[in-house]
Amino acid sequence: MARYKDAVCRLCRREGMKLFLKGAKCFTDKCPVEKRNFAPGQHGKDRKAKIVGYGLQLREKQKAKRIYFTQEGQFRNYFEKAARAKGVTGEMLLQQLERRLDNIVFRMGFAVARRQARQLVRHGHVAVNGRKVDIPSYQINAGDEVTIRERSLKLSILEVAKDFASHQPVPGWLEIDRDNYKGRVLALPRREDINLPVNEQLIVELYSK
Ligand code: SF4
Repeated sequence: MARYKDAVCRLCRREGMKLFLKGAKCFTDKCPVEKRNFAPGQHGKDRKAKIVGYGLQLREKQKAKRIYFTQEGQFRNYFEKAARAKGVTGEMLLQQLERRLDNIVFRMGFAVARRQARQLVRHGHVAVNGRKVDIPSYQINAGDEVTIRERSLKLSILEVAKDFASHQPVPGWLEIDRDNYKGRVLALPRREDINLPVNEQLIVELYSK
């Protein structure tokens, strides 16, 4: 699968807002959005036209894709599943993105950013209900227990992540034991539990054309 290999901060600058893709740096004045809040590239400063209609819908979709680091095809699949599911399509879309294992590892505070959480999963450091799962897009269900595997507990990035997470609120739909790097999904998140600057309705409109 194609992967984005450029500097992730460019993604925030392209969206004109912080997408919090890098952990602690996002909260400092080293954040490029603080210093250069215009689109990247040679003509970035010149792009000042107000975005409306299709452009706005496209930007919302790109923003959500970038926050969760998903590719277009995979994102489209999430939408199609959401459209078939019972409930409000936009909310179902966000719920599926939130249920990704890499996102849960990040939400539980075992990584400082989703990208780092994805690496932890890919490298086999994470277990679901006691069994190793190395698929970042694995969909978690209510009641599932997510743990860092015993042989991985000495990783230094876990200590850093724990310190970082201690300043973050615990999402109400998760139960987290940070000292032992384990957590449980109490319930699937509702829209009000997902604190993202995304207007999912615009994404639904885009894909419904
Ligand atoms: Fe985005 Fe964080 Fe980079 Fe700032 S530091 S541009 S919020 S990823």
